[in-house]
Amino acid sequence: MATEFELIKRFFSRPVSAGLLGGGDDCALFGITPGLQVATSTDLLLEGRHFFSDVDPRSLGHKALAVNLSDLAAMGARPLGCLLGLGLPAIEEAWVKQFADGFYALADQHGCALIGGDTTRSLQGITLSVTVFGEVEPTLALRRNAAQLGDDIWVSGVLGAADIACRMLAGEIPLDAALLQATRQALEWPTPRVELGQQLRSYAHAAIDVSDGLLQDLGHILAASGVGAELHEQALPLHPALIDSLEQTLPPEVLRRAVLAGGDVYELCLTAAPAQRAMLEKIAQTLGIALTRIGTVHKEPGLVVYDRAGHAITELPGGFDHFRI
Ligand code: ADP
Ligand code: MG
Repeated sequence: MATEFELIKRFFSRPVSAGLLGGGDDCALFGITPGLQVATSTDLLLEGRHFFSDVDPRSLGHKALAVNLSDLAAMGARPLGCLLGLGLPAIEEAWVKQFADGFYALADQHGCALIGGDTTRSLQGITLSVTVFGEVEPTLALRRNAAQLGDDIWVSGVLGAADIACRMLAGEIPLDAALLQATRQALEWPTPRVELGQQLRSYAHAAIDVSDGLLQDLGHILAASGVGAELHEQALPLHPALIDSLEQTLPPEVLRRAVLAGGDVYELCLTAAPAQRAMLEKIAQTLGIALTRIGTVHKEPGLVVYDRAGHAITELPGGFDHFRI
């Protein structure tokens, strides 16, 4: 069986580009473009908490980095590099190889070099910790506190699929093989909107990535900006598999919860002045990403969601909270 150092050498020591020093020293060194600021973020993924034990290791490698790149995207930052902390109960080389392949494939796609990390044996379960570094113009970084009265609220991509797949795999809702197959990709292979985030920098006011549910994450923007908002359920972009199952497989409350409060989405939710509509639509079209206008920022605090009949929904589903009992 490989030792810690053989493991690092074999699977996590691919060469990095000039300007970045990683792989083997006590610290990684990297420079940034003069005048820009470093954007950095870290996320922990625990077996049994954030992923199922039998998850495809390749998709896990992808997702561990994707959720971090999504944070850079939400700030409008360009990725530079990342660190990977690994706690493994044992070294299963085939597993580690696939994990590394999934991780590096996404890292290469975004020019986000793996420049260091730490590897240790865990007593129980797999623990993953990824830290990303990016760069962004300090005045253009997309912040949560910058929503303005009258702004449109937009969301990228489609909603609801990851929550449905996760609940089916967890046995919380009945398993429907066709629906699982159609929604599983969203849960296991999320696409961080890195390019979209960077292009939005000059046109959006506030942004956040939807990791804990649309209502909760948009709520963070509203609270930080001291404003309220209204959303229209009818305008929310549903994953195609959920549109197909509107009248069939899923009870309406399960569908509503998945769309409004489902986590693990990794789409961007942003606000922008109505004057930017044409610009945002052009950016979305160029990138081939759906960007949908779902509501408006207004003065009265709080978030009101109108249902398809135009009535305010009185009992809104809550978002994800690790410490909620
Ligand atoms: P130290 O004891 O100084 O922290 P380590 O022996 O833990 O150093 O790591 C040796 C080198 O291997 C370091 O440069 C570290 O960044 C790198 N490294 C360790 N684990 C990983 C990993 N999972 N991915 C990428 N690089 C790693
Ligand atoms: Mg170490």
